[in-house]
Amino acid sequence: MTLQLTHFINGKRTAASERTQPVFEPATGEQRGQVSLANVSEVEQAIAVAKAAQPGWAKTTPLNRARILFKYKALVEAHADELAELITREHGKVFDDAKGELTRGLEVVEFACGIPHLLKGEHTEQVGGGVDAWTVNQPLGVCAGIAPFNFPAMVPMWMFPIAIACGNTFIMKPSEKDPSTPLRLAELLTEAGLPDGVLNVVNGDKEAVDVLLTHPDVQAVSFVGSTPIAEYIYATGCAHGKRVQALGGAKNHMLVMPDADLDQTVNALMGAAYGSAGERCMAISVAVAVGDEVADKLVAALGPQVKALKIGNGMRDGMEMGPLVSAAHLAKVKGYVDLGVKEGAELVIDGRDVGVPGLEGGFFMGGCLFDKVTADMSIYQEEIFGPVLCIVRVPDYATGVKLINEHEYGNGTAIFTRDGDAARQFCNEIQVGMVGVNVPIPVPMAFHSFGGWKRSLFGPLHMHGPDGVRFYTKRKAITSRWPTGIRSGAEFSIPTMK
Ligand code: NAD
Repeated sequence: MTLQLTHFINGKRTAASERTQPVFEPATGEQRGQVSLANVSEVEQAIAVAKAAQPGWAKTTPLNRARILFKYKALVEAHADELAELITREHGKVFDDAKGELTRGLEVVEFACGIPHLLKGEHTEQVGGGVDAWTVNQPLGVCAGIAPFNFPAMVPMWMFPIAIACGNTFIMKPSEKDPSTPLRLAELLTEAGLPDGVLNVVNGDKEAVDVLLTHPDVQAVSFVGSTPIAEYIYATGCAHGKRVQALGGAKNHMLVMPDADLDQTVNALMGAAYGSAGERCMAISVAVAVGDEVADKLVAALGPQVKALKIGNGMRDGMEMGPLVSAAHLAKVKGYVDLGVKEGAELVIDGRDVGVPGLEGGFFMGGCLFDKVTADMSIYQEEIFGPVLCIVRVPDYATGVKLINEHEYGNGTAIFTRDGDAARQFCNEIQVGMVGVNVPIPVPMAFHSFGGWKRSLFGPLHMHGPDGVRFYTKRKAITSRWPTGIRSGAEFSIPTMK
């Protein structure tokens, strides 16, 4: 155990904090290092550094900001294997999946490279006699981001590339479970030419987060994580006058219609439910089968495949599923499986005791498949965030839609069908923020925006894409008249154009 994962402030790694927490390698269960947990004054120092760097950075032309991001993209690509290994070693997901995560993050960098175009305002000549009007989009100042453990590269990259492209400076607070990747991502951005202090990484827990939420010099907070914390972040940040977007948890349903292509559906469910061991906010955790015949076919086809999942160290070739992120999370997920059995769901495949030979200390479990899950069960209502797929049987399309619409979460959903009418109706009436038609994980591309509905998102603006630029800028409307414009005497009623 040698790794000291500290903070990255003003262009360099800092000394360790007084408080630290162990960081584990989930595949072995061994401690690989320790992460610093910032105290109030360490976070205040990062905010001061970001505040001092902001005016100069805002003066850097958008084109020159974009040029740094272009270099950054090339650097991240050159270091992709190193970064993906860091993700796999600390999160557990398999190496190819980690590389995919990096690619999805880089797509936001690519989007942010278009910032000269994205920041353009609107202009109207002659809104009145001799009067012109236009809008400009200006940076907010110091912004902060708080990220979850499950995408240590992609989620931070949803935030900081756009925030800094817009002329803000940024403080990233990654998950304390897998902090190595965000630290390395910040170092590479400095190597690409970003001035010191523009992007800072502060590791820590609630103590650090609370400073970011309440400090008067932080203008905006982006959060991704579980719903109870998202709600807290939103309420506290807003109460302190900040702009906040807080993305929360999920329970994503796939509605399987009787005419769906069975092979395509089963493949989609396997990847979407068990990929990254179910630790994705867009994972499908509920398959809603329309009719018993569909449900029976799904169970028959899925069962053997869930049992045969290739589980092991994500650094080994050919693995389909790695370990869960921590011993505590593993215990929580297994606890949900116990609860499902107690609640009367039919446990078709039980992965609770599946281990990996030679990696007995690793946080592994096998895939689990429940049939005959009902809406009153906790395993249906709550987010499990593990490799557990629940099948709910419904008699018809309308009952399936009602079920999905009544769930408290509304992050992602999908319909699998060959019926265009049903798909179109589903897209129209489903109360969920991101919808797939025969696409199981409908994560919008970087140039669109990502976000759920209901208790999966607090705040009006989604992440990255056009909403990302709106979130990290404030709009100013300017109306101007020059002395040659039409003159009149003093006006005491509201100005109107005559
Ligand atoms: P989490 O809510 O436990 O932690 C998220 C962040 O909040 C971390 O940085 C953590 O340090 C901080 N935090 C934790 N407790 C806090 C507290 N009491 N006060 C202040 N800050 C606190 O989430 P997690 O376990 O890291 O991640 C998994 C969750 O994230 C799941 O619920 C998943 O659905 C969700 N998630 C959502 C999305 C989305 O886009 N909606 C994406 C990824 C993950």
